[in-house]
Amino acid sequence: MLSYKNLSSQDPEVFSSVEKEMKRQSEEMELIASENYVSKAVLEAMGTVLTNKYSEGYPGHRYYGGNQVIDEVENIAIERAKKLFSAEHVNVQPLSGSPANAAVYFAFIKPGDKVLGLRLDHGGHLSHGHPINFSGMLYNFVQYEVDIDTGRVNMEKVREIALREKPKMIVAGYSAYSREIEWQKFKDIADEVGAYSFADIAHTAGLIAAGLMNNPVPIFDVVSTTIHKTLRGPRGAMIMCQEKYAKQVDRAVFPGMQGGPHDHIQAAKAVAFGEALKPEFKEYAKQVMANAKTLAQEFLNMGYKIVSGGTDNHLMVVDMTSKGLNGREAEDVLNKAGISVSRSTIPNDPNPPMKPSGVRFGTPAITTRGMKEAEIKQIAKWVNEALENKKNEEILGRIKKEVKDMCLDFPIPSI
Ligand SMILES: *Cc1c(COP(=O)(O)O)cnc(C)c1O
Repeated sequence: MLSYKNLSSQDPEVFSSVEKEMKRQSEEMELIASENYVSKAVLEAMGTVLTNKYSEGYPGHRYYGGNQVIDEVENIAIERAKKLFSAEHVNVQPLSGSPANAAVYFAFIKPGDKVLGLRLDHGGHLSHGHPINFSGMLYNFVQYEVDIDTGRVNMEKVREIALREKPKMIVAGYSAYSREIEWQKFKDIADEVGAYSFADIAHTAGLIAAGLMNNPVPIFDVVSTTIHKTLRGPRGAMIMCQEKYAKQVDRAVFPGMQGGPHDHIQAAKAVAFGEALKPEFKEYAKQVMANAKTLAQEFLNMGYKIVSGGTDNHLMVVDMTSKGLNGREAEDVLNKAGISVSRSTIPNDPNPPMKPSGVRFGTPAITTRGMKEAEIKQIAKWVNEALENKKNEEILGRIKKEVKDMCLDFPIPSI
């Protein structure tokens, strides 16, 4: 564990919250698909004096003096990211996924332009055109859906909508979609209608970097990703594009969207990319996917319905209505059993967004702890037992204790 001796003595109030969160993370089963645990080295990089620096601009062209070292760090991050994703150009400054997406739209299209994106309640992201998000307010989004019977994106239908609507940009890459994405078909459709192709690989970036899922970077015009999901780095994002778009993307991030980059986070991004380039990371990503397959199979064996019937990546959306619960109830019950999940809509959800029908499960975090098939099978049993005994506080309490015992056998790397 890092030393927190100054924090604890100077500000016991904040430290007490940090301590409680460390305890919670140590003792609870983290099945939220977008979360992960960073390494000690990534955590240390985030806590460096690089946070003290201002460095608006880009390596070699800054609006502040004293950036020799910061340039070095940003260039390391860029070079490693290029290698990981075979990217021609990378901007590592975006502060998080949504701001990165804002910069992408800003770089390629104008307010009011038409964009085609997947509906939020079908697995898309808020920043892919939802009316309550800047994307839906500023741009004229048309939404595609997944097929209800297959739970998958139907490329024929995407093409039909694209031919009819003639969008300026097509967005692919999702938050709650468990299948491989047909990047080349998206690119072909975009080319056919003269649209920019934009991939948002926030969720699967780590699996793509490991070479286990198809990589849109070499074929798409522009790709954004968060760093903190399967890629297991600090909170933040980056944008990758072809060299011919480098200038407009960089200008959209700074000065278009942001001021100074967060240099301590840039350092942590570089460290995380360094980790992802190592052979161990490929083994990790393989295990994430194997664990997700095992978890999905266990749920299917227990009679749960999974959107699209299974998973090709690290996550799955399980329909809870077959067990007489909605996603909100399931989330609350599992929370009492020490298991963290996030409720999720299912395609054409009959229930309202605050009480959707599904729960999204993911394996990136528990795999970082070192859990494998045997643990996954036990976790599936606990989930099912908790849901079937949703009102029985005694059983939920017993499961919570068993969950804690297992978790303590698989410590989080930084605690
Ligand atoms: C998580 C996610 C984002 C947003 O990332 P934030 O860092 O939370 O802003 C964007 N796009 C997709 C597809 C995501 O899953």
